[in-house]
Amino acid sequence: MALPIDRAEGKRLFRKYRSQRDGIRNCPEMASVCLICESIHIADKPDADGMRYCCNCGFAFYRYSCPSCGRTVDGRDPQNPACSRCGRRICSCGACGCPKPDKETPL
Ligand SMILES: [Zn+2]
Ligand SMILES: [Zn+2]
Ligand SMILES: [Zn+2]
Repeated sequence: MALPIDRAEGKRLFRKYRSQRDGIRNCPEMASVCLICESIHIADKPDADGMRYCCNCGFAFYRYSCPSCGRTVDGRDPQNPACSRCGRRICSCGACGCPKPDKETPL
C-alpha cells in the first residue's frame, strides 16, 4: 500500500535513509521513494511478485508484507537480508520464502 507523498517529503526521506538504511521497512512512505535517484514515482513491478520499481531510473526492490507475521519487508533495509536459497528477503521474524526458515531450530 503506497501513500501519496510530495517531492519535499520524498527529498527529506531520501536524505534521511540514504545513509542510514536501518528502519526503511518501518516507514510506510519509503514504499514511494527511490533511494537511487530520489524519485517518488514508484509503482508495483508488474512482472515480479512482491517487488516495486522506480519509474524514473528503473531500480527495483522487494517490498511486501511478511506472509508469516505481517510486518513489512524491504530489500533495502539491512535488517531484511537476502535469503541465499529462495532469493526473497528475510523478515525480522526470520521467515522468508523457504518452507522452513534456516533460523528455525527444533525444540
Ligand atoms: Zn529511481
Ligand atoms: Zn515476519
Ligand atoms: Zn529463503
